[in-house]
Amino acid sequence: MYDFNEKDQVKLSETTVSMVGAGGIGSPVLRLLASLGFGRIRIIDGDKVELSNIQRQNIYNTADIGKKKAECAAANLSLMNPEVKFIPIVQRIDDKNAQEVLKGSDLIVDGLDSFSARHSVNRVSVKFQIPYIFAGAVEYFANLSSFIPGKTGCLSCVMGAAKDNPDSTAAKIGVSPELLSVVAGIEAREALLVTLKRKANLAGKLMTIDINTLSFDIFDIARSDTCNICGESGPKE
Ligand SMILES: [Zn+2]
Repeated sequence: MYDFNEKDQVKLSETTVSMVGAGGIGSPVLRLLASLGFGRIRIIDGDKVELSNIQRQNIYNTADIGKKKAECAAANLSLMNPEVKFIPIVQRIDDKNAQEVLKGSDLIVDGLDSFSARHSVNRVSVKFQIPYIFAGAVEYFANLSSFIPGKTGCLSCVMGAAKDNPDSTAAKIGVSPELLSVVAGIEAREALLVTLKRKANLAGKLMTIDINTLSFDIFDIARSDTCNICGESGPKE
């Protein structure tokens, strides 16, 4: 690419990315992060591979059913790019383990399926000043943003204390594999731009996608002074 040189490739190879969630979004994102040559990729997921996953979670195959996703993902992706150090972490992220699991990352990429886990990630992102590429997808709809501590607001500025609606989870109403590939491409692009210290297209923006009508919208979003995570009223440590 005209704007990507050897120095940039070296920078990626020296970067540690934490991919939280190795499911519908995480799988295609991991494939891209590995092929782009990010040097160390932590794969954080507590689930096992199920037959119903394989239609969209494109780093697994039928021989992986019943095995732990994080370990399978690391093994399968190592075959694609043996230069990358994959670190499987078989844990479901929450407030208890988030700090320990994410500490030392240069970047966090979201492949989660719950707001409670995202809030745990967001708190660590703000506390340790680690950029957080956010994405959520269900049915034909997705939201994306790039939260860069010190420069943009955080997840809570936009979503407040948003909670999961048990009736509209991807597990319950499904999620389009085509949508997931689009979301993955955008997240990987943002990950690359943030790592190379270039302007991330979704910093200070919220992108919404409806893949069914092929609608893409981008809204300006601001940091909230009253955010209880990163605002004036947020934690002072
Ligand atoms: Zn905030």
